[in-house]
Amino acid sequence: MTEWLHEGWNVIGGERCQAEACDATGVRCDYVDKRTRACRTTWCSQHWVAVAGKPYCRRHASVVAAMGADAGAVGLPDVDNRAAALVASVAAEVDARVRAVLHEVAPAGGAVLVADPVRPLPPRDRATRRWQRAWKLVDHSGMLKRVAIEVDEDDDAVVMAHVDTELIGQGVPPWIERRRRGVSVPEQVDAEQRRSFYDAIARSIELVVTDREAVPLL
Ligand SMILES: [Zn+2]
Ligand SMILES: [Zn+2]
Repeated sequence: MTEWLHEGWNVIGGERCQAEACDATGVRCDYVDKRTRACRTTWCSQHWVAVAGKPYCRRHASVVAAMGADAGAVGLPDVDNRAAALVASVAAEVDARVRAVLHEVAPAGGAVLVADPVRPLPPRDRATRRWQRAWKLVDHSGMLKRVAIEVDEDDDAVVMAHVDTELIGQGVPPWIERRRRGVSVPEQVDAEQRRSFYDAIARSIELVVTDREAVPLL
């Protein structure tokens, strides 16, 4: 079948879900990037992830959810952009703990937490784009504390965690490591490995944030 025939086919409810060992028919992921390229994966109602009532594959659901209102303003990242998707999914997993620890160190009165959506960083002297999600504790004097999760498009498997301007940790998620080595594990082991990866990131952020006083950054 040619690409064109495939494109022209009415796929609603007509294609097999791509989840492993799933026999149900599904619908296309609703993701369309800023260059109007669509995601070509298909998922059943068990395996798609709904955001604002629309079905997405797991990767794009986290991008759409994390871009927030920015998606309308700057357009969604390229459909095959793994960096933005990885930032989005990791940031969503550590979000509650980052917020909690920033609240914990916030000085009494006046400080507020600002959580940015996923967005590309200004290029500066880098050749590639870097995607980031940041949480900031700010008061009338300025920014007191900043936590960020970043992934560079040039090495889109490496998750970096920053506190203030310092890189406090980085690592390749276990599921990406496995994909590189062509290894698969039972769902339960995968879930366990994901949990401990997210936990390690959150814990190192907590340690560094609580270890230092929240004072205005220069
Ligand atoms: Zn399915
Ligand atoms: Zn998708």
